[in-house]
Amino acid sequence: MRLIAAGKTDVGCVRKHNEDNLLLDTELGLLVVADGLGGHAAGEVASQIVVDRVAHFIAQTVEKDRTWPLEYDVNLNYDGNRLKVALLLSDQAIAEDIKTNPERETMGSTVVACLLHGSRVTMAHVGDSRAYLINPDAITQITRDHSWVAEQVAHGILTPSEARVHPFRNVITQALGNGGDLDVAIQELELRKMDRLLLCSDGLSGMVNDQDIWTIVNSASSLEDAVNQLVARAKENGGEDNVTVILAGFEDEEMQPSEGNA
Ligand code: CA
Repeated sequence: MRLIAAGKTDVGCVRKHNEDNLLLDTELGLLVVADGLGGHAAGEVASQIVVDRVAHFIAQTVEKDRTWPLEYDVNLNYDGNRLKVALLLSDQAIAEDIKTNPERETMGSTVVACLLHGSRVTMAHVGDSRAYLINPDAITQITRDHSWVAEQVAHGILTPSEARVHPFRNVITQALGNGGDLDVAIQELELRKMDRLLLCSDGLSGMVNDQDIWTIVNSASSLEDAVNQLVARAKENGGEDNVTVILAGFEDEEMQPSEGNA
């Protein structure tokens, strides 16, 4: 089963600049969505640093026999360590950049990144960039946002639908850029033949609900078509933020035509 993927980023309908970045390297099996914070000439720098640093470190660590720059976490597999360290190095790199460019002091970035080897997926995230697993039966959010509303939902104080419209829905509890004190979330899962893996910034998940994302992915003619439709739908719904989407799956399965009235 060969991995295929499509990705797209768009400024949206309201903002003047796109502070999101994405990376899609099927050879390394690496997919990254980074959502920069801090405004023009800061957010886009931060998300670019993340994408560059992660790509560089993952490319450097294809072979296992290398000196490890940060502590190796024995509770994680090799790819989990690669991603965790890549994100921690990105965090440090943003903090270093701020030291020499104090005008960017508010910059930071959320990130969701995954490494795919065959059907095995290792996933890392910080902030509210998300990963979803989508198949003909269901859509499942894999990552739990590092956000204030997600904490309230986890404690049963808010329902997921209340969280979607809450005035504090954009308040995140973690981002890359502080240069330490990060709790990178790492997960592993197995991708089955019919599964699609979706990575996105909150410019998609905040504008298009899960049911509509599922319908579009399952009715699209290809991964590219799905990605284009998802970005278009986010913009039809207001496009209030930059929108970034990566969709990945296996080549030997055609996408299923929809049986519904999508
Ligand atoms: Ca955003």
